[in-house]
Amino acid sequence: MKKKVILVIIDGLGDLPIPELDHKTPLESANTPMLDMLASKGICGMNTTIAPGIPPGSDTAHLSLFGYDPKKYYTGRGIFEAAGLGIPLKPGDIAFRTNYATVKNGIVVDRRAGRINDDDNELAKVFTDLEFDGIIITYKPSVEHRGCLVLHGNGLSDKITSNDPKIEGNPPATIQALDNDADKTVQILSKLINEVETRLGILDFNKRRVAEDKLPANALLVRGASSAVNFPNFQKKYGLKGASCIAGGALYKGAATLAGMSVINVQGATGRVDSDLKAKVTASIQSLENDDFVFLHFKGADNEAHDGNFIGKTQFLERIDSVLEPLTGMENVVLAITGDHSTPCSLRDHSADPTPILIYFPNCRNDKVDTFSERSAISGGLGHLRGTDTINTIMGMANRTKKFGA
Ligand code: ZN
Ligand code: ZN
Repeated sequence: MKKKVILVIIDGLGDLPIPELDHKTPLESANTPMLDMLASKGICGMNTTIAPGIPPGSDTAHLSLFGYDPKKYYTGRGIFEAAGLGIPLKPGDIAFRTNYATVKNGIVVDRRAGRINDDDNELAKVFTDLEFDGIIITYKPSVEHRGCLVLHGNGLSDKITSNDPKIEGNPPATIQALDNDADKTVQILSKLINEVETRLGILDFNKRRVAEDKLPANALLVRGASSAVNFPNFQKKYGLKGASCIAGGALYKGAATLAGMSVINVQGATGRVDSDLKAKVTASIQSLENDDFVFLHFKGADNEAHDGNFIGKTQFLERIDSVLEPLTGMENVVLAITGDHSTPCSLRDHSADPTPILIYFPNCRNDKVDTFSERSAISGGLGHLRGTDTINTIMGMANRTKKFGA
């Protein structure tokens, strides 16, 4: 009988021993009775989400965990942003992440235009009715100065550089083609940025900001060029009736959207440490009534680790543990919990260290691991998984993979 699946991804789950925590990792140090119970009744292992020695990005790691080889499907961040904002993409479209910035006398003085707020979408109007040589433009704002730009049409390339100088006090960089096929895209993008900056320059919104002694949004920085590719549909591949994503951050919603999952927006799901974890679990249970698959994402542990806050990371893992109970013990549901990568607090960045994984369902073939941690999971029955094998392993336990041979 086919089972339903909940895949919980705890962002930045893995860590390294921390002297101040008695040489334990945050996961070892955290009081996590529910995760430990699941580990003892379930089956554990380690997960290398990209490849040995490679620190994963959250974007590539999620693709991999959903079964898409990032080497084949990852073209850059832009398409995640676009998909997360609900911009329809066709293969060949090119998506960028954008910033409004402030330029004075040819120098970028603020890459974020004073973290400008454009709640009434006044700035976004400058992207209306833009078309260059048959290439149609879509723009959607996200938060503060950030947004996403998509060029729709044929003959485009993502092999171009960014105009973001990265460091303030420099002029915007010149966008350059990285191969011969990219010349057209560079020309269109340059014309587009010129036109947008001309329109920004005469916008009442900016005139008001200057009058109020605030930084105007008079420049557009584009980065993360990536071309849309055809993602085989996740639900079709595993014969799922419905697959949904419950996450706060746009990147994760984007990754799920690219895979063809539907995004459930949960009130209080912020993608930060203050996220309403309980509401997300409740929404997951509700989704599971109709859907065969739920991807539930918790972000806060990664945020804390990037800040080097091992106490905060430990506490966030305890908070996750305290809300998991409703996900456990459901008949015919396979529960899988893993991370997308390790984010050691001591490094304040992602590392190549594998991340633990546990899978639990009633009557699963459990192993001798009885706590959930980096060191205990090493001796678990799943052994050592590669990221792209993760979903197949889980789906196999849910009786959703096809027999190979007679
Ligand atoms: Zn991550
Ligand atoms: Zn991170």
